[in-house]
Amino acid sequence: MIIVLACVIAIVVIAFVLGVRAKDLPEPEPESPFLHLDERKAAIYENLRDLQFEYRVGKLSDQDYQNTKQDLQRELALVLAGVDALKAQLALGKVGQVVPPALPKPTVSIAPNGVLCASCGATFEKQLKFCGECGKPMPVAQT
Ligand SMILES: [Zn+2]
Repeated sequence: MIIVLACVIAIVVIAFVLGVRAKDLPEPEPESPFLHLDERKAAIYENLRDLQFEYRVGKLSDQDYQNTKQDLQRELALVLAGVDALKAQLALGKVGQVVPPALPKPTVSIAPNGVLCASCGATFEKQLKFCGECGKPMPVAQT
């Protein structure tokens, strides 16, 4: 009787796990985006704790520990950035999907290392007393 019961429980558990997995594949929209992020944050913190423990008991090499720790910290930074982005969205009144934080774009400077003439906008590689384009006196650049 006990064996039969154990078998039934095992089958139910397996069926449940398989069923949940199949359902989870297209990830359902979380009810609260904050909850979702909090769960991820908690999971990362837990992983960090486990990692530290395993490192302390000598299961991990220095290299493995540092690599994994950096990966986790990077992920954590993304999650925290996601929380910030979400807060900003909520502040704007837009409640909805979590937008992953955008990577900062490299800014293009117009005159990378030149002196700009205030009168005509021409750039020169070095400081000149008078603009080579329009001939007007150029202010000395402060360095
Ligand atoms: Zn000029």
